Amino acid sequence: MHSENQIRRKVLVVDDELINRELLGFIVGRDYDVIYAENGVEALEQVKQNQNTLSLILLDLLMPEMDGYELLDILNHDEELRRIPVIVLTSEKSAEVQALHQGAVDFIPKPYDMPEVILARVQRSIQLAEGNNLIHENERDTLTNLYTKVFFMQYARQYDRYYPEMATDAIVLNINRFHLVNELHGRDYGNKILKTLAELVQEIAERTGGLACRYEADMYYLYIPACSDYDALVKQFSESFIERTDSAKISIRIGVYQNADMSIDMEQRFERANTVCASLRSSYQTAYMVYDNQLHEKELYQEKLITEMDSALAERQFKVYFQPKYSIQGNRPVLSSAEALIRWIHPETGMISPGVFIPLFESNGLVHKLDRFVWNGAAEQIRKWKEKYQISIPVSVNVSRIDVYDPEFENEITEIVRVNELEPAEVLLEITESAYTENSSQIIETVNRLRAIGFRIEMDDFGSGYSSLNMLTLLPIDALKLDMQFIRNITTSEKAYKMVELMLEIAAFLNVPVIAEGVETEEQYQLLKKAGCDIIQGYYFSKPLPAEEFEKLIEKEKQQKWEDANSDKKSN
Ligand code: C2E
Ligand code: MG
Ligand code: MG
Repeated sequence: MHSENQIRRKVLVVDDELINRELLGFIVGRDYDVIYAENGVEALEQVKQNQNTLSLILLDLLMPEMDGYELLDILNHDEELRRIPVIVLTSEKSAEVQALHQGAVDFIPKPYDMPEVILARVQRSIQLAEGNNLIHENERDTLTNLYTKVFFMQYARQYDRYYPEMATDAIVLNINRFHLVNELHGRDYGNKILKTLAELVQEIAERTGGLACRYEADMYYLYIPACSDYDALVKQFSESFIERTDSAKISIRIGVYQNADMSIDMEQRFERANTVCASLRSSYQTAYMVYDNQLHEKELYQEKLITEMDSALAERQFKVYFQPKYSIQGNRPVLSSAEALIRWIHPETGMISPGVFIPLFESNGLVHKLDRFVWNGAAEQIRKWKEKYQISIPVSVNVSRIDVYDPEFENEITEIVRVNELEPAEVLLEITESAYTENSSQIIETVNRLRAIGFRIEMDDFGSGYSSLNMLTLLPIDALKLDMQFIRNITTSEKAYKMVELMLEIAAFLNVPVIAEGVETEEQYQLLKKAGCDIIQGYYFSKPLPAEEFEKLIEKEKQQKWEDANSDKKSN
């Protein structure tokens, strides 16, 4: 709000006459830091020392040692120094033209009798040099009198040039639910809030020697020397905000990118602060969060997976694997079905676990495409095995919660079954328990329709959600898949074993079979068998396998069946 706080640009005055230097220094010194040189040699020295921070040179042409023309020539042939605008100080018209030819941007005629004009030309030349875009922009926001974004960015970059050693923080502030403030209390009140926030932000800038701007609407940026105590800063800020607005209902979210990496550009630094700010969505209290580099790397990785998914599908990097399920209640375990599990075999990073990308793709809807790929792949495989081995191995596929709420889901899965000439019962549908608890009435309707056509539904991850017994009796399901976490501890924890028994009782009550997944050891297997579990899936039998390898299990099963049949004959 006060212009003292603006970073003062540096201007070099080069003149061999003391009186001229003093005069010019007095005129431009009002708005700029001024340094001096008596001739071209000294000037070049000064220019090199202040290369990054110098905004303008006022240059006399006729001087001893090295004159102005010579200096202009040197500057103009230097990639770096060329950016610094030069205004020449002249008394004759012919010199002006030549100086302009040599790269000067403007000239100021001697004697210096119109200070305001000189100042205006200096300002204009600097603005021009700092970017043509600035000319058409306002430096300050009319409502808050803070810098506007273009100027702010420019000044922030300049700040770095002035203080190259200084650690800095980029901060983004945003008002929670500001549209509601406007809607509920009117625009005048909204403006009052914006101004109050601007005041506070500006005060922080002044106190710390940093910069503030209103970036847009209700978003503010701060660029300040690194702050070590954000708890204190935000506490004070929040208290002042409540006091001045006379309301504790409006809160601010603050994202901080601390100790900014100087090698990335200014926009990116604020983008990072903005990412954290956005992740703080609408709390009812003013809150801040500091950007975390690891978080960023994770985000970058996720971003990479998202952008690569389509091409990865096209390049067949995704593969459907099959993990067998065995019925265990007879004399020997019998291969009864399989679960289709997706694998991403990435050319750079190797196999990526679905635990990494499925939740990610579920959050943005991409899973829709992937699931269809798996369903198709699974259905094709069932058909191929039927043709090759004359037996049907039902395969279960995972249905994401967003699929269940997709009005096209029913048609799509039916179509996949029809195209592959299968019965609906050959494609089992696994729906995770938590999907049921979200919007149970809609899911019950969908599932009822699917079952009416002949599909069978398995409730996946049973025990991890919060289904009540009461709700379970209403749910149309054909099997319960126990969540792996129960199996993990059944041999060591009495409580875990009791839980499994309880769930088996529930299943008996509902009259549906129980599938235990994640079974890894003989001991777990024996316990589950004893407890009455029907079907088992897990590393104990096999990891998920590519279709070709799964075929060995089918062949083994056929062989076993044949042997069983033969021994039956013998014993008869
Ligand atoms: P899920 O449906 O509960 O699948 C069971 C997970 O347990 C699989 O992990 C499987 O590889 C793993 N598993 C099986 N036996 C054992 C064992 O003995 N020990 C251990 N430690 N783990 C075992 P995976 O393949 O990493 O899949 C993780 C989850 O990702 C799945 O959990 C499922 O929710 C999801 N998913 C996998 N493929 C798809 C898909 O095509 N579509 C959708 N929507 N989700 C999928
Ligand atoms: Mg599953
Ligand atoms: Mg599961």
